[in-house]
Amino acid sequence: AVEVSDLRKNYGGQTVLNGLDLTVRVGEVVALLGPSGSGKSTLLRCINHLEDWDSGMVRVGGRRLGHRDDGKPLSPRAIAHERASVGVGMVFQQFNLFSHLSAKENVAGPLRWVHGMTRVDADRRARELLERVGLSHRADALPRHLSGGQQQRVAIARALAPNPSVLLLDEPTSALDPELVGEVLEVIRRLAVDDGLTMIIATHQIRFADEVADRVAFLSGGSILEEGPAHEILTNPSHPVTQRFLSVME
Ligand code: ATP
Ligand code: MG
Repeated sequence: AVEVSDLRKNYGGQTVLNGLDLTVRVGEVVALLGPSGSGKSTLLRCINHLEDWDSGMVRVGGRRLGHRDDGKPLSPRAIAHERASVGVGMVFQQFNLFSHLSAKENVAGPLRWVHGMTRVDADRRARELLERVGLSHRADALPRHLSGGQQQRVAIARALAPNPSVLLLDEPTSALDPELVGEVLEVIRRLAVDDGLTMIIATHQIRFADEVADRVAFLSGGSILEEGPAHEILTNPSHPVTQRFLSVME
């Protein structure tokens, strides 16, 4: 579903992605682990084409992102169109809900504005998604009247609404109070296990990664140091950097 190859990106002389390769198959859940600054967020933002890269290739569903046959860069409008048509959904650490819109409108609005759905269809789809994340009873609430865990579940519903082929989650529980983490992880776990959604999740939750991810990729300095079956990497890492990272996490 997702193919990243030899991806390179610099921010003013600093190398952030250093020839990164990653392939995620349909239905697979991959957890991205790694120290702060290793490039997890930047990688996810490239896969969603929220950022440009200097060289390398990103493919989603067989389509090469940002590519024009004449070699010129895509316009912002073309990128927005590309994002909607390749089907990448993203969930951010800070929820990023529209603060003046109800939970239901947060989900239904983009379906009308971006995906051209009618109000009736968008509302139906929004109710369906809010039910899936256990929030039917809060459909009319504004974000500020919801707990952090509920806000993040609305954000997940919004990301899922257009039926993306891959869902990217960037530390989806890092901004939450500890007692709210479980409800969000449970929603993500169900999407992975029951629905077989393709997901890439940057997380510091080692136990969650072990339980939900098929594969773990450990980033360091903008490339993947080690990757493999989740349980294998997490219980028996072969690289000293991974070993050290995991030993301080537990
Ligand atoms: P964390 O675990 O803290 O979220 P991360 O693995 O997600 O870290 P990134 O946010 O991808 O790391 O950042 C990778 C590197 O790129 C860091 O050194 C960061 O300072 C740098 N960086 C990220 N965004 C920008 C930006 N907009 N401008 C300049 N440098 C940036
Ligand atoms: Mg990050």
